[in-house]
Amino acid sequence: MYLAAPEVTQMAAGQPGMRPPWPGGTGDPGGRIAITGARLIDGRGGDPVDDAVVLVEGSVIAAAGAGAEVPFDRDAQVLDAAGATLMPGLIDGHCHLGGASFPDEDRWVLEDDRYQAIASAAQARQLLQHGVTSVRDISVNGTRLRTAIARGLIPGPEIVPCWRGLSRRGGHGDARGVPPEMVSTSHPWGLVADGPAEVRAAVREVVKQGGQCVKVWASGGGLHENEPEDVQHYSLRELRVIVEEANYARVPVAAHCECAAAAKDAARAGVWSIEHGEDLDEETIGLMAEKGISLNPTVVLLTQWLEQSSVFGGPYGKPYVPGVTELPADPEAIRTLLHDRLSENLMAAKAAGVRIGVGSDSYCADLTPFGLQTLNEVHALVAAGLSEMEAIVAATRSGAEILRIGDRTGAIEPGKAADLLVLSADPLAGISGLARENMVLVMKAGQVVTSGL
Ligand SMILES: [Zn+2]
Repeated sequence: MYLAAPEVTQMAAGQPGMRPPWPGGTGDPGGRIAITGARLIDGRGGDPVDDAVVLVEGSVIAAAGAGAEVPFDRDAQVLDAAGATLMPGLIDGHCHLGGASFPDEDRWVLEDDRYQAIASAAQARQLLQHGVTSVRDISVNGTRLRTAIARGLIPGPEIVPCWRGLSRRGGHGDARGVPPEMVSTSHPWGLVADGPAEVRAAVREVVKQGGQCVKVWASGGGLHENEPEDVQHYSLRELRVIVEEANYARVPVAAHCECAAAAKDAARAGVWSIEHGEDLDEETIGLMAEKGISLNPTVVLLTQWLEQSSVFGGPYGKPYVPGVTELPADPEAIRTLLHDRLSENLMAAKAAGVRIGVGSDSYCADLTPFGLQTLNEVHALVAAGLSEMEAIVAATRSGAEILRIGDRTGAIEPGKAADLLVLSADPLAGISGLARENMVLVMKAGQVVTSGL
């Protein structure tokens, strides 16, 4: 029972700026490239360095700093980036490379699995073309994509795969309109598990399948009226079992929490990151700060979700603004309420010292375009109150820490992977400068993805 797959023309081959054949770069794994003259934002939050030099050797950064302090020899290929800004590649801590063409739970299960696997490769490429060099993915494809990308078969970011995420029966990772057997074989990112014994087995399955992080839907997500955001989906006991089992396997837990109760129990259980987390109370924020639990606020996704809710004519459930039971009739007033609530919540977490990341939650090419949505999320963090520099740190070093790859990427410093962007605009002067059309160079692990230099 498969539906015909539509043509996904926006992902057609031969995208401008792609240097055939992949992989690009100098073609010399030991080659040296010196990028000179740019303003350097290293991802660690300090003042930018003007007229910098970044020396790339093979796949890593050999040196970076003010031009006079970074000598390089004549054999290096010099890329003149005078007047441009250089920063680390972006890190998206929350996406779903499920290859889904549709925005609803039944059709993304019914859609041909093999078509979705192929489409997911295009989604990965789109992320990279927008300067996203690492992602954490929740989908059945991520473990395989990771291998294919690492082997150089297809272009894409480094993937930290979660494989499928744990959902209770009828939760955000289930589908009501298809038989349960089909959900278990064909759900692009959900794995149904109820009760302590099943969630323990599910964590073991995630690890068996190559998951490097365990995703759990601890609350509803508003796909339909029976799955509202303000309902907790896993008990504290279940969450504790999930964290315990993940700890045995030394993998972190990322918990989708859209209501205060779920976020609090997830924090009590000791998850590694809270996804969405738009309803954090003071106690939960305190626990997050104390335990080092990160927040991926997914501001763009939550704003889109409102527009896709039933009141706005979309396919999903009732509009949700945390803490507001009686929504105003005026759509514009609902939008303002949500924006203010997301902003207030984010700034309270930030003020307490909670690590903030960037998560696009891209899951469907049409609604949440891969790569573009990541850039929009960085912009939205600034609109919600972070400074440009704070949003850049969220998208780079903090993202790497959330993915637990901070030892090898996320900052421009010697020894880190040469994952970097050169922009024709300065994002510190206006975060909208962080845009694909301004990316004159995208480099991943020393290989040139796109270059206008
Ligand atoms: Zn998600």
